[in-house]
Amino acid sequence: MLIVMRHDAPEEDICRVVAAIEEMGYQARPMPGKQRTTVGLVGNDGRVDGSRLAALSGVQEILHVTKPYKQVSREWKAEPTVIRLSGGLSIGGDEVVVMAGPCSVESERQILEAARCVREAGATVLRAGAFKPRSSPYSFQGLGQPGLRMLARAREETGLLIVTEAMDAEGMDLVADVADIIQIGARNMQNYSLLKHAGRSGKPILLKRGLSATIQELLLSAEYILAEGNPRVILCERGIRSFDQSTRNLFDLSAIAVVHGLSHLPIVADPSHGTGHRDMVSPMARAAVAAGADGLLVEVHPNPDRALSDGAQSLYPEQFERMMKETRLIAEAIGRRLAEPAGVRA
Ligand code: PEP
Ligand code: MN
Repeated sequence: MLIVMRHDAPEEDICRVVAAIEEMGYQARPMPGKQRTTVGLVGNDGRVDGSRLAALSGVQEILHVTKPYKQVSREWKAEPTVIRLSGGLSIGGDEVVVMAGPCSVESERQILEAARCVREAGATVLRAGAFKPRSSPYSFQGLGQPGLRMLARAREETGLLIVTEAMDAEGMDLVADVADIIQIGARNMQNYSLLKHAGRSGKPILLKRGLSATIQELLLSAEYILAEGNPRVILCERGIRSFDQSTRNLFDLSAIAVVHGLSHLPIVADPSHGTGHRDMVSPMARAAVAAGADGLLVEVHPNPDRALSDGAQSLYPEQFERMMKETRLIAEAIGRRLAEPAGVRA
């Protein structure tokens, strides 16, 4: 529930509303805006008597947040959330952030080579999993902690920020020591204890849409993280299950526009898992930027034919270079720009 104050409501009126909410046993979060203050009532279990608050001096109206999520919603916060990362990079503003790299860390040599080539092409964040959620227990499971150390080396050498996946709470603590952004993968989108742990991690979280998750479910999962006190959540559209076998998943481009309508959180697009085929990655990357994606998560491998996971959807370095040139043009056409690597940034 949101209590919208009149634009001329004095401070005492706001304090009275806060006190009334607390007396009722809920938390109050005043949100001063340019024109007026809105007070959020947290912990609404559906039994709140809004009329008591509506009658207080200085209250203009009561907005019932009918959606099951609150803090992630546009009603809660109208302006887009801009997440500041280290090195002056931010996501959710004018800049489109490209996160690129192999599906998995496979060796120090492979990750360093991948990092150099994506940086050269203009990426600002290196992606690669050290802990890999694989459909088969017999597939490559990732290098684990040594992989994290290799990622740290790659950051040291290239200045790229690191996004990498955590699969459980224990792993998240290890990942948090190295990652600039912690990824929660599609398979864990509804792992609520992991989401709560992410809410307490103090790190930006990249939350991927579940394999068959609705947008509402994605937003509710993000709500878990915000409700624990971590507002730095980046959503990610990575395709959903469909009946059509032409692509690995159905890349839901419309989710970008839907999420921007419903939420203030940034959303990035992953056309690699979204399509499963490298030839489709660039067209969908261009489309995602045109649709307003705040960033891209793209798999690039120095030698995709020898990749230990997701080789078929991994771009060759020269394909990635071309994709960067094309998406840069698209970003500029809609009044945005691609984020520049550290050193180039003003
Ligand atoms: C990945 O990013 O490599 C990954 C495993 O993605 P998802 O969770 O979307 O399948
Ligand atoms: Mn992958």
